[in-house]
Amino acid sequence: MNRRSRRVLFPRVAIEVESETEESSEDEEEDHEEEPLTPPTQPVNNKKKAPITISLKRVCKVCKGTGHEAGFKGATYIDCPKKPCFLCKQPGHTTMNCPHRVATEHGVVPAHRREFRGSLDYLFERQLRANVPMIKPGFVIPDQVDCAIIRLHSRRVTSLEFHPTNNSILLSGDKKGQLGIWDYNKVYEKTVYGSIHSCILNSMKFNPVNDGSLYTASSDGTICYTDLEIGTPNLLMNLNPDGWNGPANWRMLYGMDISSSKSLVLVADNFGFLYLVDMRSNKRIREPVLIHKKGTKVVGLHCNPLQPELLLSCGNDHFARLWDLRRIDAGDSLGNLPHSRVVNSAYFSPLTGTKILTTSQDNRIRVWDSIFGNIESPSREIIHSHDFNRHLTCFRAEWDPKDPSESLAVIGRYISENYDGVALHPIDFIDTSTGRLVAEVIEPNIKTISPVNKLHPRDDVLATGSSRSLFIWRPKEQLEPSEEQGERNYRVSICNKQEKKSKRAKLDDESDEGDDVSGLDLNDKSKQKPGACYKVLHCPPSSKSKSKK
Ligand SMILES: [Zn+2]
Ligand SMILES: [Zn+2]
Repeated sequence: MNRRSRRVLFPRVAIEVESETEESSEDEEEDHEEEPLTPPTQPVNNKKKAPITISLKRVCKVCKGTGHEAGFKGATYIDCPKKPCFLCKQPGHTTMNCPHRVATEHGVVPAHRREFRGSLDYLFERQLRANVPMIKPGFVIPDQVDCAIIRLHSRRVTSLEFHPTNNSILLSGDKKGQLGIWDYNKVYEKTVYGSIHSCILNSMKFNPVNDGSLYTASSDGTICYTDLEIGTPNLLMNLNPDGWNGPANWRMLYGMDISSSKSLVLVADNFGFLYLVDMRSNKRIREPVLIHKKGTKVVGLHCNPLQPELLLSCGNDHFARLWDLRRIDAGDSLGNLPHSRVVNSAYFSPLTGTKILTTSQDNRIRVWDSIFGNIESPSREIIHSHDFNRHLTCFRAEWDPKDPSESLAVIGRYISENYDGVALHPIDFIDTSTGRLVAEVIEPNIKTISPVNKLHPRDDVLATGSSRSLFIWRPKEQLEPSEEQGERNYRVSICNKQEKKSKRAKLDDESDEGDDVSGLDLNDKSKQKPGACYKVLHCPPSSKSKSKK
C-alpha cells in the first residue's frame, strides 16, 4: 500500500492511483521504477482500483516505520535510524559523516584485488593496445549548460541517444512511451511522437545500416522500428499479443542492443528471457533463452564493440553475465559477475571492449580492468550515491566514448550537496581507473536529479535528462562568454506550458520531484535570481503528440 507523508497540511485525502510505491529500494529486488500495472491502451477488465488513503502521519520512506522520517531535508539527506549508512551501507555512522563522503578520493574503497594504476600501467597498456595515445590525455568535461528544452516530455525521461550521423540531434524516450527528437543547435526545433509505445520506453538503438530509423523497446512488451521522418512505428515483436491478463503475465522489455555483424536485435524481458530478432527478415529466431534467474528482470544488454559474439547482460538477480552468442543456452554463461544488489547497467568499454563497468543499487560502481582474467571479483569498487528512494529512472554509469584511455565515466548523483545554500544534485565524472571524482557539474537552476546522462560519441557534449527536461552541456572554455557581464546566457526552450495534467500524472510528477527546474521563472526577467543566466528563446505552443512541430 502506498503511503506518503506530505509537508503541506491537507485534510486526509483519498486519491485514486495505481499501486505505486514510494519505495526504499533497500528490500525490494524487483523494480526501481513504478511500473504501470495497467498499460494505458489496454482495456481494464478487472474491477476498479480501490482508492488509497494518504496519511499525514510522519512515515519513514525507507523502513515505513512511524515516528521518524528519512530522506531529503533541504540539502541534507537524513538517514533512517534503523538502517546503516545510506551511502556506503555500513553501520556505525550516517551519510552526513560517512568517511566515503569526505574522502579525497571520492568514495573509493579498495576491492579485493585493487590494482594500483599509474603511469607504469599506462605504459604497459600502450604496449598491448596500439591505439592508446602516447600521452595520457586530460579529461574534457562538459561542465556548463549550453541550452535546454524544458518539459519536452509529459513524463520523466528514461533514455537518451545521440543521432549516429547528425551531430546535434538528440533522441529521448519517456515513461509514457513517447519519443522526443530535438535539434539542440536550433534549440526550439523538436518533435514528439506519442504513439510508438503505450508505456515506458526503456531502450533505443539506431539501425546500423540506416540512420533514419530507430529500434525501441518498451514495458508494453513490444519492439518497434520507426522511421524518424514519419514517426509511424512498425511492430517488430509483441510479447503481449492477447493484451492485458494481469501483471503475472505481462511481459516488459528492458535491455536491448543490436549486433550489426550478426544483423540481430537482442532484447530481454522482465522474466529473465533473451529474444533474438533477425533484422533482415524481421522474424524472431530460435526460442527465448533464459539468461537470468527465472522471473527476474533483465535490465541491460550490451554487445562487445570488437568481439561480436560476446554479450553482456545484467539484471535484478544481482548478476552481470557474459555470454557467447554462438552457443547461448540457459545456465551456460562464460562468466558471472556477482553484485550484492540489483545491477542497473553493465557496459563493455567503448573502444576495446576489454573492460566492464557496472552500476549496482548497492551504491557501488564496479570496474573490471580486463575480461580476460579472473572476473569473479571486480578490479575496483567505487562508492557513489545512486541508490534512491523515490520514483526515478535508474542511475547508470556510462563511459565517455571519446576517452582513448577508457577510464572516464559519467553518472548522476542522488544525494544532494549544499551549494551556497542551494541543494543540488551534481552529475559526477569519475576516473574509473582510480575512482577519483574528476568533476561534479552543477547548474544552479537545475534542482532536480539527473539520472539519465549520455556523452556524445564525437563532440565534447553531455546530454542530461532530468525529470521531463533535457539539457546540453559543453566545456566552459569552448563557450563564448556573453557581451556584458562576462556571464554566459544559455538558451532555453519551454514546452507544454498549458498542458493539463491528469491527477495521476500530477501525483507522479511530484514524486519525480515536482517541476523540472524548480524555482525558475523562465518567463519573467524581473524574477530571475541574480547569477542566473539564461535566455528564453522561444515558447512554442504546447506540442501535440505525434504531430511534427
Ligand atoms: Zn526509518
Ligand atoms: Zn557510510
